[in-house]
Amino acid sequence: MIELRQYPSLPHAWSAAAYLRAHGLLARGYQRETGRVRMGIFAGPPMRVDSFVAIAFEPDRIPAEELLDEFDQLPMPDESEWSASAEPDLARLPPAMPIPCLHCGKDLRERMGVRVARGLPIECARCGKCSDPVEAVVARHGPEALLPCYPEPADPDWIDDATLAQLRIPCQKCRYPLTGLAPTGLCPECGQAYDKRAIVETSFMRVTP
Ligand SMILES: [Zn+2]
Ligand SMILES: [Zn+2]
Repeated sequence: MIELRQYPSLPHAWSAAAYLRAHGLLARGYQRETGRVRMGIFAGPPMRVDSFVAIAFEPDRIPAEELLDEFDQLPMPDESEWSASAEPDLARLPPAMPIPCLHCGKDLRERMGVRVARGLPIECARCGKCSDPVEAVVARHGPEALLPCYPEPADPDWIDDATLAQLRIPCQKCRYPLTGLAPTGLCPECGQAYDKRAIVETSFMRVTP
């Protein structure tokens, strides 16, 4: 693979890779270690990690550079939106963690039942006022308490079949572009069997800086 450009965060690199794929270029975003952070003599050696976009095929280099120039002019994706895009699932909180009423402090857990998962306002058994359980968790435990409530994000570099079909993936034998063809089949030029997913997977295993 050909490493093209560094981005300030992994979500930025993912977005840049998705932009290239939307234009038919096989690309992915990832993080890798770029060296040790210089610290005091006795400090541990935390690795410095940076985020990058790479493409799979050398002939894509110039169009990819042009597309990334375009992408870099777009507004940067907001990283806070990255995690806020999904509603927190409060059913993933530790069962013993109290969720106190915003008005009187009584634990709302007993009133929540199945509603806890949906994040609907909950009426307090003591004061009768309603509290948003997400706000109640943040008010008592801080925003970091919600971290377990977000499922692991799916691989943002996952390529669906429709995108896969449109990528400019060359035949591994004759380099004929398989753009628009089924995920697996025979190269119409040389008859070589191909499997686009297998090509995608192996394309990013070797770095060509
Ligand atoms: Zn209350
Ligand atoms: Zn071929």
